Amino acid sequence: MSENKREPKLIIVSAPSGCGKGTIMHKVFNDDEVFYSVSCTTRPPRPEDIAGVTYNFLTVGEFEKMIAEDGFLEHAFYSGNYYGTPIKPVEDNLAAGKDVILEIETNGAFQVKELRPDASSLFILPPSVAELDRRLHKRATEDEETIQKRVAQAAGEIEKSDRYDYVIMNDDLDKAVEDFCAVIDGIRGVKEAAVRFSPENEDIKKMIREVLEN
Ligand code: 5GP
Repeated sequence: MSENKREPKLIIVSAPSGCGKGTIMHKVFNDDEVFYSVSCTTRPPRPEDIAGVTYNFLTVGEFEKMIAEDGFLEHAFYSGNYYGTPIKPVEDNLAAGKDVILEIETNGAFQVKELRPDASSLFILPPSVAELDRRLHKRATEDEETIQKRVAQAAGEIEKSDRYDYVIMNDDLDKAVEDFCAVIDGIRGVKEAAVRFSPENEDIKKMIREVLEN
């Protein structure tokens, strides 16, 4: 990184489950560059989850206590479970000069934007709603009812993606990583802002419409 004394950035990344955002993000950064916020959730761990690394797994009671104690920067109820960003690690890392990445769904993203209008947001689209459905079935970590709920929820989220600062698509992983880097480098001031990914562009608006229609 080439910056002298720059403001640390708060970066929101949203993508419906099955969009591969974890894969993209972990290909791109190492921990010295950015702090990945570890969320709390009440959903049961999946086989690939590691407590304290992928999530902090809480009971509903523990989560609600943390809400009452103002322990979250944002929180949301999603697909039948609570998810929230613990506020302290975010504040501590920003104060230490590190960029912070929040991987959260749309309701949480809009809450953070309200609180911190300087935060930048990126939405990762699946190639189509049908492809997302296929990926979730292939992953086979949830039952049919949960998958259907997640697909419906995803479509609702995609409809709101034009409220993000940047929108990219994960169709081809290498291309998605390249686009992701262009956006993040722009946000971090390492490169010029990647305005071509703004949903104010007709191309991006069209891409969002096509994902929803297919
Ligand atoms: P999953 O259960 O597939 O890990 O995550 C479901 C959704 O919750 C994903 O869209 C993920 O980005 C989102 N999510 C994860 N952590 C948080 C969080 O702390 N707050 C909010 N609002 N959403 C989160």
